[in-house]
Amino acid sequence: MTPSGPPRSAVGAGYTHRAGHARASQAAVPVGVLVGRKILLLLVLREPHHLLTGILRCGRVSLDGSICNTPLRVNSHPHVKYHLYSCPAKSAGGCGGISRRGDLIDEFISEAVLAKLEERAMTARETEPWAGAGELARQREKLAKLRARWDSDEVSDELFFSAVKPLEERIRQLRAEQAKHALGAERLSQSAATDVASLRARWYKDEQDGGLPISQKRAYLREALHAVIVHPAGGGRQPFKPDLLEPIWRE
Ligand SMILES: [Zn+2]
Repeated sequence: MTPSGPPRSAVGAGYTHRAGHARASQAAVPVGVLVGRKILLLLVLREPHHLLTGILRCGRVSLDGSICNTPLRVNSHPHVKYHLYSCPAKSAGGCGGISRRGDLIDEFISEAVLAKLEERAMTARETEPWAGAGELARQREKLAKLRARWDSDEVSDELFFSAVKPLEERIRQLRAEQAKHALGAERLSQSAATDVASLRARWYKDEQDGGLPISQKRAYLREALHAVIVHPAGGGRQPFKPDLLEPIWRE
C-alpha cells in the first residue's frame, strides 16, 4: 500500500475513522504511515510465537468414531506461567476437548526431533554403500582362480604372470577407491553429527546469545514432521504423558 493511497483494510478503515478526516488531503500521509505500521505490527503478531502452533493436532475421537484432527491453538493466561495448547471450541471448528501444558510438549517434541536428526546423521553413512564392492569381489575371485590353476600347473608361468599383473593392478585401484569412499562417508557423517550437535546447542539458547529464532526451529520441525497428534489424557489433572504425543515423521 502506498502512503498516499486509500486504506483498503478494516484496520486502515479504523484508523481513518479515528483520525477524524476533516482535512482529508493533509491527513492522507500520516494515516498511510500509521496504517503501514499497524499492518507491519499485525504481520509480526501473525508469526507464531510458539513452537508447535499448527503442528499439533487434536487426536480426540468423537462419538461417530472420527478423529477431531483440528490444529491446536495457544491459550495464555496472565496468572499461568506456561502456555497451553488447546483444541478450539466447537463454535471455532474444534471439539474443545484437549488442553495441554505447552512448555512440556515443546521440550518433548524438540528432543524427539533432535534425536531423530542425530539418528539420521549416524545412519547417513550406512545408507550409501560403495558402488564398486561387487566388482572388487569379482576381481578377487578371478585372481584366486588364476592362482589355483597356476598352483596345479594348469597355466604356464608366462600366462600366469602376464594375466596376474593387470588383475592385481585393478584390485589395487578398486581398494584405493574403496578407502577413499569410506573416508568421504566418515567425514560426511562426522560433519552431519557436528551439525546436529551445534543445532542442539543453538536450539536451547536465547536468540540474543546466538540461539535459533523460533521461525527457524519451526522450519526444522516442519522438515522432520508432518504433524504431532495429541491424544486425550482423560479427565482431570493428569501428569505429563509423552506417549500420548504421536509424531508423524516425514520419510
Ligand atoms: Zn479436538
